[in-house]
Amino acid sequence: MNIVIFGPPGAGKGTQSNLIVKKFDLHQLSTGELLRNEIKNNSKLGQEIASIINDGNLVSDEIVGDLIEKYLSNKIYKNRLIFDGYPRNLIQARNLERLLTKYDQKINIVLKLSVNLETIKKRIFERKNLEKRKDDSEDIAIKRFTTYENNIKPVIDFYKKSNLLKVVNGEMSISEISSEISGLIEGIKG
Ligand code: AMP
Repeated sequence: MNIVIFGPPGAGKGTQSNLIVKKFDLHQLSTGELLRNEIKNNSKLGQEIASIINDGNLVSDEIVGDLIEKYLSNKIYKNRLIFDGYPRNLIQARNLERLLTKYDQKINIVLKLSVNLETIKKRIFERKNLEKRKDDSEDIAIKRFTTYENNIKPVIDFYKKSNLLKVVNGEMSISEISSEISGLIEGIKG
């Protein structure tokens, strides 16, 4: 099974993906994490994307599209992926469909974590002290929230049409969210 999970920055996508991966033996594909690794490696690509991420903007669709194709084309991960933070706009959602068809796969469930801006600010403030992410400063976090809101609406409509979308209240505790998500996944596994 392949899963998409999305939500605003600080919604808990990473935390929840981690838990799902362990429980259902999947592989987490976090585009944000892959991009941060490129920055750490100080690769040419890393230098290109560092300023984009640190300004709270989206990296180009081509760059993230290439990153996810590497995983979709790898048989080890076939039907075992959880897309954490991809797609983030309609172009990416369409690109994902194209790649899924190309590699004979599909998405089984799309999870949307809904969280309001006040909670996000609080969570990002806490995470900043732990992870030291440059893009976790308050003003950039707000910018990332706005970027998310500005791009995600057509993605939501896209997955609503295909009946894959499940909305989860991301305001709940980590374990409450996790058990709700597990129930939804068990439900589609039948
Ligand atoms: P995240 O770890 O998901 O919060 O992502 C951190 C940052 O990486 C985002 O604010 C974007 O700048 C960049 N990023 C992650 N995923 C994508 C994506 N699918 N498309 C474009 N940029 C992305």
